Amino acid sequence: MSNDGKHDPSCIFCRIVAGEAPAHRVWEDEATLVFLDIFPVSPGHTLIITKGHHENLFEAPAGSLAAVGAVSKRIAEALREELAPAGMMVFQLNGADAGQTVFHYHMHLLPRWPGQELVLHTRVPGDPVALADLAAKLVARLERSAS
Ligand code: 5GP
Ligand code: ZN
Repeated sequence: MSNDGKHDPSCIFCRIVAGEAPAHRVWEDEATLVFLDIFPVSPGHTLIITKGHHENLFEAPAGSLAAVGAVSKRIAEALREELAPAGMMVFQLNGADAGQTVFHYHMHLLPRWPGQELVLHTRVPGDPVALADLAAKLVARLERSAS
């Protein structure tokens, strides 16, 4: 597997970065893209990805990982302000045996509430209207905090 981070047309996350596939986008900078998970485990389930195609932690350059880490704080704060969850889970899976299902590096931010089962995935799609509404609110919040 190459480590050049080039667009992989067979990768759904590369297709989202390129604008070839839709996503409820929340944030974008030079190195990262942030959008809502289409199968949210809880409201506000968000993915932070490297713009370049790197399969996992082992393949992604340290600089890209640092960019994801830096933006994670900003996004977690926006989610906390918007949704007031009881907690915030951050996780990142590497390899099918670790549960990874999309092989393009990404970090999950998962707002959590009391009594919520500890699961990493669901196959239930989120309500598209609710996802669009939340994404718009987060975009507005992030724009306000940046200015
Ligand atoms: P992983 O299991 O690889 O850590 O996480 C992949 C995540 O990507 C899952 O939570 C899954 O719901 C999400 N996902 C898969 N396909 C799409 C998609 O096309 N759009 C969005 N927004 N999320 C996706
Ligand atoms: Zn990719």
